[in-house]
Amino acid sequence: MTHPRRVFLMAIAATGTALSTLSTGARAQAKVDEKDPQAAALGYVADATKADVKKYPKYAAGQNCGSCALYQGKAGDAAGNCPLFAGKQVAAKGWCSAWAKKG
Ligand code: SF4
Repeated sequence: MTHPRRVFLMAIAATGTALSTLSTGARAQAKVDEKDPQAAALGYVADATKADVKKYPKYAAGQNCGSCALYQGKAGDAAGNCPLFAGKQVAAKGWCSAWAKKG
């Protein structure tokens, strides 16, 4: 028979895991969906190499959110905030037609 104290400790451990998973999920912001109206209007793509060069001929290789003046993520982050997409995160490797050269 399992000792009641052992069952109790196991229950606490399981609860702790569930709680930490929850708080991690709450902190992570949603990523911008390419199909969002704002994203579509700006030609946003999560992968800059897939930018529509016919529609946006000003796109040049090397341009991406990570190298954009508006990008607020830290260097090395996979995604970060952009003032054009409030409350959501853009991919560091993404791109949109509002890309602006840093500095
Ligand atoms: Fe990315 Fe810059 Fe467009 Fe924002 S403005 S989505 S950081 S390219």
